[in-house]
Amino acid sequence: MPFEKTIARAEAFLKGMMFDCHTCGQCVLSQTGMVCPMSCPKGLRNGPCGGTLDGKCEVYPSKSCVWVRIHNRTSHEPYDLPKLIASADASLYRTSSYLNLLNGKDSQTRKPLDYLDLPKQRTRQPIQTQSKLEQKLKSGQFVKLCELRSPREANFEHFEEQWELIREHFDAVNITAYLNGKPSLSSPLAARRLRELGADPICQTTCRDYTKTSFVAELIENQMNDVHNVLCLTGDSYAGTPKIKQVFDMDSSWMLYEARHIREHRQIAFTGQVMKNPPKPFLGAVINPFTTPMNVPIRRLKQKAAAGADFIQTQMVFEVEPFRRFMELVCQEKIDEDVFILAGVPVIISPGALKMLPHVPGVGVPPDVLERLQNAKDLRAEGLALACQTIREIRQIPGISGVHLMLMGSDHSVLKDVIGVLDEEIEPSTFQNVAGDTQPATQGVLSHVD
Ligand code: SF4
Repeated sequence: MPFEKTIARAEAFLKGMMFDCHTCGQCVLSQTGMVCPMSCPKGLRNGPCGGTLDGKCEVYPSKSCVWVRIHNRTSHEPYDLPKLIASADASLYRTSSYLNLLNGKDSQTRKPLDYLDLPKQRTRQPIQTQSKLEQKLKSGQFVKLCELRSPREANFEHFEEQWELIREHFDAVNITAYLNGKPSLSSPLAARRLRELGADPICQTTCRDYTKTSFVAELIENQMNDVHNVLCLTGDSYAGTPKIKQVFDMDSSWMLYEARHIREHRQIAFTGQVMKNPPKPFLGAVINPFTTPMNVPIRRLKQKAAAGADFIQTQMVFEVEPFRRFMELVCQEKIDEDVFILAGVPVIISPGALKMLPHVPGVGVPPDVLERLQNAKDLRAEGLALACQTIREIRQIPGISGVHLMLMGSDHSVLKDVIGVLDEEIEPSTFQNVAGDTQPATQGVLSHVD
């Protein structure tokens, strides 16, 4: 239709110059402080992703994060709950949003979604799912999590060897897949294998890789595989040449909303299809507490909790003090009464990982910590000691329900030593420090904390 195309082109030109419009055809500028959310390189309708740091974008570090700008412009109270914007209707891209508004084509996706009517103080509610992790968290146990990488070839041997090194020591295990876009076995299939071996796996799923259809399919697959924990993530920007097309048919808040909608209402939100036997996952999300300004991660956390998350895993904590301040606000806003918060604890033991550390999206490593690790004669001992010290301090912070160890290195045997600190099975004073004597190896490493 020439008339509609002409209007769409004129609109794209004018709004492109004024708002960096990306022509989604279902304009939400009035809800996003006149900043186009589609100008986020991941096209997130709700954000930011966990890759933002110091207000900058993960994909284009010289640019401001679109979603930090939107939060700054739309918070009426410092920590108010943001609106939940629906995922975009793909059939409206490159059409005129003015015409779509007039003829009502965008009415489903332009207006914000109503949050699900979830009860307050959900961490104290009776058990809702078949997840063992839920049982442990609701029993008040301080939980211990770690992660395994899904096999990158058609063989479980190495994966199972790693599992043997950590079994008996952890309450649940994340299964990472497609890290940086590198092909691997899918997380649900690796999670199924781990379930067969007796673990309580957490399947990781990213909106970078899935459409709405394949996401719901994965929820069904997990339920049928007896896997009852699902972690909804945005996903890092892909590496590789040529670059891979990233899906982003939805954002992580919408994933949580859809999965929780199915669990609560036995109905798929985006199709209306009713399910007699719906999947009922225990739902996880992630948050970067170090996104600034601080009201951004607090509002984002509130949104994820209201969208349906049951538990939250945080970005790696290298500095305890800023994390403590974040948790004070979490408790002040009573978010910890609705979701369990598990702190991410880095375990850096390999020189390769240490080299990569400053380039990990969303991770800010204080220079003194970096220097200490770089100067360590025995990096494994120093990384172990740093993780133990961090756990000890984090455990004292109100609102924390557990820790999630994030190993940067391939020797999983170190994880049981780290987690042993919770039971005081290991004594840090016996670690060798950088000078090779038996003083606490953490001495000075965390001096920024004091
Ligand atoms: S940091 Fe993430 S949310 Fe922010 S603009 Fe970049 S990709 Fe989008």
